[in-house]
Amino acid sequence: MSQTAAFDSIRSGLIPFFRLPQAESDFEGFRAVLLGVPWDGGTAHQPGARFAPVHVRRVSATMQSYNPLARADVLRKVAAADGGNVPVSPFNPGLMREVTETAIGQVLAAGAVPLVVGGDHSVALPCLRAAARKHGPLAVVHVDAHLDTSGREPWGDPYHHGTPVRHALEEGLIERGQLFQLGIRASWADANESALVTKHAGHIYTMEDIAVDGVAALMTHIRHEVGKRPVYLTFDVSGVDPAFAPGTGTPIPGGLSSREALELVRGLRGLRMVGADVVEVLPALDHADLTSHLAAHVLFEALGALAAQ
Ligand code: MN
Repeated sequence: MSQTAAFDSIRSGLIPFFRLPQAESDFEGFRAVLLGVPWDGGTAHQPGARFAPVHVRRVSATMQSYNPLARADVLRKVAAADGGNVPVSPFNPGLMREVTETAIGQVLAAGAVPLVVGGDHSVALPCLRAAARKHGPLAVVHVDAHLDTSGREPWGDPYHHGTPVRHALEEGLIERGQLFQLGIRASWADANESALVTKHAGHIYTMEDIAVDGVAALMTHIRHEVGKRPVYLTFDVSGVDPAFAPGTGTPIPGGLSSREALELVRGLRGLRMVGADVVEVLPALDHADLTSHLAAHVLFEALGALAAQ
């Protein structure tokens, strides 16, 4: 069973991601499980990303199974389920990390690949923890305008949506030399902002690098560097230009086009993807669901990467 027929989906009134079958806790037999984490308590500026899962589900239900660009019948090839949302309290960031890590761990324990819709970017840390616990230190492809290696300053709290990559590096969740950050262009506190990434031999591809080399060449290079390692994709929609992805809390001009962003994710084909998240979609600031549609297509391309394995 892949998708519910469009007519039956309208009849039921329920809208799982891509009209997929729903599975609440028994993930056996599924190759991929999509989960929402409706949390935006890590947002420094504009909250609202907690509503992303419901909107991404809604627009994803308009999509069909076959990807003509990848020549793959994605949803028929990958047995995928909608695992519902991780039930996070909106008041307790520590508890959010705990229950999210547990939920992702359950998906991984069933032998399935978790595909997560945030939520703000702080939901990526428990996902990375669970994935690294299962697979060991990961290769990480990180799409973002920001490095997300902030520390305790300026908020006096070491955990927020600008810090997941710092923790992932410091906790050894990412193999040395296997962090690839793409789309980077937001302003830094000073010239040393990238020091932590450099210390861990991570790779930063600014928008200028992408403009010069092109997404296809960069992804060929990254596939070569990653090889057979387990790779995790963390996709912050702020990596994409606000013209294409206006629905996000920290829009930064000069980003990827949506076409480049999808080409980037399609470039993961051939790699051993063990998990992915799409974060920072903020529906209340969106126009015409552009950002939710983009998120749904990023997930579709991520499923396509699984279909190609
Ligand atoms: Mn981010």
